[in-house]
Amino acid sequence: MKSDTHHSISDARPAVLVVDDDPAVGEFLREALARWGYHVLVAHSGQEALSLLDHASIDFAILDVRMPGMDGEKVLRAVRERSPDIQIMMMTGYGSIDDAVKFMQLGAVDYVTKPLILEELRLKIHRALEERRTRMLSITDSKTGLFNHYYLMERLEEEIGRARRYTRPLSVLMIDVDHFKEYNDKCGHLAGDEALRQLGRYCEEISRESDIIARFGGEEFVMILTETDLASARIVAERLRECIEEAPFSCEERLEAGRLTVSIGVAQLDVGSGVKYESSSSLVNRADHALYLAKDRGRNRVEAADPEMVA
Ligand code: GH3
Ligand code: MG
Ligand code: MG
Repeated sequence: MKSDTHHSISDARPAVLVVDDDPAVGEFLREALARWGYHVLVAHSGQEALSLLDHASIDFAILDVRMPGMDGEKVLRAVRERSPDIQIMMMTGYGSIDDAVKFMQLGAVDYVTKPLILEELRLKIHRALEERRTRMLSITDSKTGLFNHYYLMERLEEEIGRARRYTRPLSVLMIDVDHFKEYNDKCGHLAGDEALRQLGRYCEEISRESDIIARFGGEEFVMILTETDLASARIVAERLRECIEEAPFSCEERLEAGRLTVSIGVAQLDVGSGVKYESSSSLVNRADHALYLAKDRGRNRVEAADPEMVA
């Protein structure tokens, strides 16, 4: 299943995860949230919560602070690190308002105190999810449902920061449709739009949960591949290129090449040594340059960026 990294705005019920070591609280909230129209999941420990967050698509989490083993704060920190778009509300006991402030600083959207007041909880969740919906609309490309350019650049900065902090590899793919003008001319703009949506779906299909896929502009897409070095990124790019070459697109037989294809430029972030680090714009420029090479060398191919070009 896709998490927030592969978000799509759907009209499905929002999924809310309740995390409390007390089964009675878990069941009480499960019943109330289901009544309010949410899809509910319940975890009884921090560890269980994290494994659910890895495998299920969750919009909102309610975290008990005091739990044996991994407490609410640890879960909050872990989720903030991995999934920036899941909203978290903390449940604290009386007399721990200082903690509540700290949790908000750590990225929780809100908190409630125990014993719970159901109407307060209902309103707070509703308001937070409305905010999330607005935010999702602002970071979505309306034509393809992928992330938009603005969000891509925001996430790229974050992922570059993370890659440096933990000295982890990070790569990007710059994908451009070959002769798309010809496709539009021969098949019409509506078919062109549908092809763009189809291409977005193929990007999602070949990607991992943690990858970030965006429409960069017109008929260009970018994928941020976390934890991925150049060699592995090339393999992903080649898989995508091949998948698109083989996939059927409406009326593509009218194209001179007989099929719709893409060219892809691949670049790995240079984490540098010492003071000098590669910027996001340098990384994108190198991927773009590699894409240009792929076009120049005949299209429907993958080229890797030159590490010497780091600016
Ligand atoms: P190349 O192989 O060099 O990339 O050739 P190309 O024709 O794809 O490149 P060019 O930049 O000349 O043309 C891009 C085309 O993409 C022209 C534009 O009309 C089309 N395009 C851009 N955005 C959209 C869109 O949202 N919908 C449709 N249908 N077409 C689009
Ligand atoms: Mg093109
Ligand atoms: Mg283009």
